[in-house]
Amino acid sequence: MSLKLYNTMTRGVDEFTPITPGKASLYTCGPTVYNYAHIGNLRTYVFEDILKRALLMEGYEVNHVMNVTDVGHLVSDADEGEDKMALGAAREGKTVWELAEFYLQAFQRDIGRLNILEPSVWCKATDEIDTQIDQVKILEEKGYTYRTSDGIYFDTSKLDDYGKLARLDIEGLQAGKRVEMGDKKNYTDFALWKFSPKDQQRLMEWPSPWGVGFPGWHIECSAMAIKYLGPRLDIHCGGVDHVNVHHSNEIAQAECALGHKWCNWWMHGEFLTMAKTNGSGGRMSKSSGEFLTMDRLIEKGYNPIAYRYFLLGAHYRQQLAFSFEGLDAAASAIKNLQRIVVERKSDFDNSADRETVKPIESHMAQFQAAVEDDLNMPRALAAMWAVAKDTDSDRAEIYKTLLAMDDVLGLGIAAMQAETIADETLSQIDTLIEERNTARANKDYARGDEIRDQLTTMGIEILDSPEGTTWRKI
Ligand code: AMP
Ligand code: ZN
Repeated sequence: MSLKLYNTMTRGVDEFTPITPGKASLYTCGPTVYNYAHIGNLRTYVFEDILKRALLMEGYEVNHVMNVTDVGHLVSDADEGEDKMALGAAREGKTVWELAEFYLQAFQRDIGRLNILEPSVWCKATDEIDTQIDQVKILEEKGYTYRTSDGIYFDTSKLDDYGKLARLDIEGLQAGKRVEMGDKKNYTDFALWKFSPKDQQRLMEWPSPWGVGFPGWHIECSAMAIKYLGPRLDIHCGGVDHVNVHHSNEIAQAECALGHKWCNWWMHGEFLTMAKTNGSGGRMSKSSGEFLTMDRLIEKGYNPIAYRYFLLGAHYRQQLAFSFEGLDAAASAIKNLQRIVVERKSDFDNSADRETVKPIESHMAQFQAAVEDDLNMPRALAAMWAVAKDTDSDRAEIYKTLLAMDDVLGLGIAAMQAETIADETLSQIDTLIEERNTARANKDYARGDEIRDQLTTMGIEILDSPEGTTWRKI
């Protein structure tokens, strides 16, 4: 058992060693619940799920905490602009609380559809205001804070190693600053507590020793991570965009409050990118307005597990360009897998020694080596296909091996079943195809297309060839 993981802090792939033998504490930055998660965000959560499943496969007891950001995340990560929650509430005519509840439920539905294991603890920023105030108080007592006209700020110049995670060039940043500094002393200083405007009541605000206001976004994670996982943390994750600001600030706050090193492993998932309509590629983001959700993929007839499979085709530290062609390929791979699984399962069900059948060691060794190599999912998938296509081994053992691999892959192999289509649907499909053929013979292509669309909505794809028209379930 030797799980090797890349650590953004050391820039190396090192063997994972937990603080407490046999246990792993994991904190993953959760969603800001002002909108649906886009499929880029979901890539990060799938990466974190693979990490957690790999830890479980290695025999660790995993204590996983995920926060829910329902206050304090401003439009710019540098404490500027409006609160994303307030903007979302105004956009949708909901209260901020309704907005948070609605999008948290949507998020939980999405991760369920993707077979992402739920965290051991969900914690909402608004439920933990006191925890955050307490951490700001400690920082104040230790002399790391100062007051400006709009809040209590963290003075990053008090630390020799501020920005060590991102290897920030602080002097270069100061010299090249283009952002409005307000009353901030240093470019990299950030808000711990923001005051409500004097003449205005904010939608979300709380009393504090410094005045009415709301916590900064970064303090939420370090305060809750320490509360739920203790003063030393094994692994902290997020997307790569968190390295420079959010996680650098979390480290500064937590280590100054605690007085010692906080987290051993920092892991970051790379972006899902998207070809923009103007032709240039870019990171999928909510602010650009061009983003795809899980609901949209389902409306288009895709199985969420096909999206999970698509994601596993790239290593988490590499950018991945989304395309529907890629997703189609993943969907047909899942179909093939399903066919094989159903066949092998029937061999397993009919096997006399079902109770004692074990996974095949040689295949499992290949698979485990891929997982232990910094979660190399493309290699792990290749190991899975090697067993799925193995024609020499015992078929019941093949089924058991696929099930064991799925503990990490999370493709829902145990639930895969033969597809059954009701007889009346089959005859409806035949009638529609005949009608379409007649329409096309009469050059009524509009009607032909209409029927094709109707079949697509039913989850049926039409395939025309010189030999005639066939169909398959999408
Ligand atoms: P948010 O809800 O905006 O706080 O983001 C949730 C998570 O998604 C964070 O860990 C981000 O780093 C991550 N993320 C944002 N955009 C992308 C993207 N295009 N691809 C992958 N992860 C992303
Ligand atoms: Zn965070």
